[in-house]
Amino acid sequence: MKFIADVMLGRLTKYIRMAGYDVAYMNNIKDDLIIEIAKKEDRIILTRDRLMLERKDIKNQIIKSVFIKYDHLPMQLKQVKYETGINLEPLFKRCIKCNAELEEIKKENAQSKVPPYVYSTQNYFLLCKSCGKIYWRGTHYKNIYEFFNKLKDPGS
Ligand SMILES: [Zn+2]
Repeated sequence: MKFIADVMLGRLTKYIRMAGYDVAYMNNIKDDLIIEIAKKEDRIILTRDRLMLERKDIKNQIIKSVFIKYDHLPMQLKQVKYETGINLEPLFKRCIKCNAELEEIKKENAQSKVPPYVYSTQNYFLLCKSCGKIYWRGTHYKNIYEFFNKLKDPGS
């Protein structure tokens, strides 16, 4: 299952990428191009734009779409899960910045690219071969993990 998100959904895009899904996202992308890419690459459109729903291919359900009803990120994620069946587990196998898949690299290969403290306390590093960003499981990782855990709580 692959997605393409409109410009209003940058934050949601990052979190769905954390769950491992391929989400295309471009700044300033026009609706016409979103439609074209969705059709060509078989992507589900995530949108907050009511005008998008009036498009012929969406009305005919040639292209699948989810109209995001909420402002609140956890609610947005729950809605996408409810409507598409995505699994909301933080997998960290995809770059949240550029959507490319991450690759595990040897600790020594990360040395020149991360702060010394990180290098001395972490052993597991992932590299985005597309943009060069390095990921490790620091404090940020724990916060994200807790965020995803809370989503499973039906009362939240
Ligand atoms: Zn990247």
